[in-house]
Amino acid sequence: MQRVAVLGATGSIGGSALDVIARHPGVMRASILAAGRNVAALVALCATHRPAHAVIGDEAALPALRDGLREAGCATRAHAGDAALAALVAGDDCDTVVAAIVGAAGLESTLAAARAGKRLLLANKESLVLAGELLMQAARAGGATIVPIDSEHNAIFQCLHGRDADARVRRVTLTASGGPFRGRSRAELAGVTPAQAVAHPKWSMGPKISVDSATLMNKGLELIEARHLFGLPEDRLEVLVHPQSLVHSLVEFIDGSVLAQLGLPDMRTALAVGLGWPQRLESGVGALDLATQGPLEFGPPDLETFPCLRLAREALRAGGTAPATLNAANEVAVSAFLQGRIGFLSIAALVEDALAAIAVEPAASLEALRGIDARARRHAERAIATGAIR
Ligand code: NAD
Ligand code: MG
Repeated sequence: MQRVAVLGATGSIGGSALDVIARHPGVMRASILAAGRNVAALVALCATHRPAHAVIGDEAALPALRDGLREAGCATRAHAGDAALAALVAGDDCDTVVAAIVGAAGLESTLAAARAGKRLLLANKESLVLAGELLMQAARAGGATIVPIDSEHNAIFQCLHGRDADARVRRVTLTASGGPFRGRSRAELAGVTPAQAVAHPKWSMGPKISVDSATLMNKGLELIEARHLFGLPEDRLEVLVHPQSLVHSLVEFIDGSVLAQLGLPDMRTALAVGLGWPQRLESGVGALDLATQGPLEFGPPDLETFPCLRLAREALRAGGTAPATLNAANEVAVSAFLQGRIGFLSIAALVEDALAAIAVEPAASLEALRGIDARARRHAERAIATGAIR
């Protein structure tokens, strides 16, 4: 019996993971569920999936979680806070960890899973952007198997049969849907609303990654993610816009062969790959009928209109703490945009400003990275509060 910890259980990826797990009773079960603040949603999931442990991020919500579980008649034990979550993830009550907390808030539990040598289904891309070298080192030292739960990286993982990209790989191409604003000019983006930005044409996802897809920062974060996951230098990583979102990425080998992975845009496929690897599992995802899908289109990304992709590539080239600065400023900017405090174009402006203001240092330790993360957040918050960037 595979026991799975689902971190970010109330989110989009968490829900898809629980859907796949529930299709395989007797083979796997959710043993730990964790969420940020929504106690009612977490209790409802516990009533359905009966995990041994439930963890709420917000420590003040522990009594409410305890009461809710008792009222629902669940024997699930209640816990709260990052430290409790990290201890449970590293402990004996799970073999597999679905790391699907959004943002840098997921770093501690993701690292704990890596150090403890778990099978790590890694959706929390921000932890790789913030601390990719340390996380990959921790996974190697702990003997953890990382299966990427990002459709592109999961595709590459499958094309490489779970191995590193070595000298046989000429280049890797990440496909991008182009987001809801593909084809628009910069001027047309000035007044777009959060509701328009989160209305993704192909994928149903949480609000933060949906905005990242609209700015193309998501693809930038994914370049950095690919660099760490597959050990590929920046100049062998490319981005190709593919609006149909059926080809999830491509790997080109030195002999000219190009392998790609295709499938409907449904994250349950990637999650089933992670839960079953190297076996294949039923995921609930339907058949891909290419005869009725219409043409598949491909084209270059528009870096003028979507400067976030360029900024992320620059941060990847600069190395050290630059990706941590990029990620932190972006998290602050996306949250401010979703709250209606800044316009859409200010997201890239805030990130560019933070990258220019904060000098790059070696990513020597977790403390150094956390320090840079905090500095970049303060810098971006101040730029918003003073009206320097609107
Ligand atoms: P979401 O907003 O739907 O869910 C986020 C989850 O994280 C929620 O369960 C929330 O309660 C939890 N959370 C937030 N802060 C927390 C904290 N401090 N402690 C504990 N839990 C906390 O987001 P999502 O779309 O599911 O994305 C999750 C991660 O997966 C992100 O890093 C995203 O980039 C990545 N990802 C998502 C998709 C997708 O299709 N949704 C695809 C690829 C990668
Ligand atoms: Mg992706």
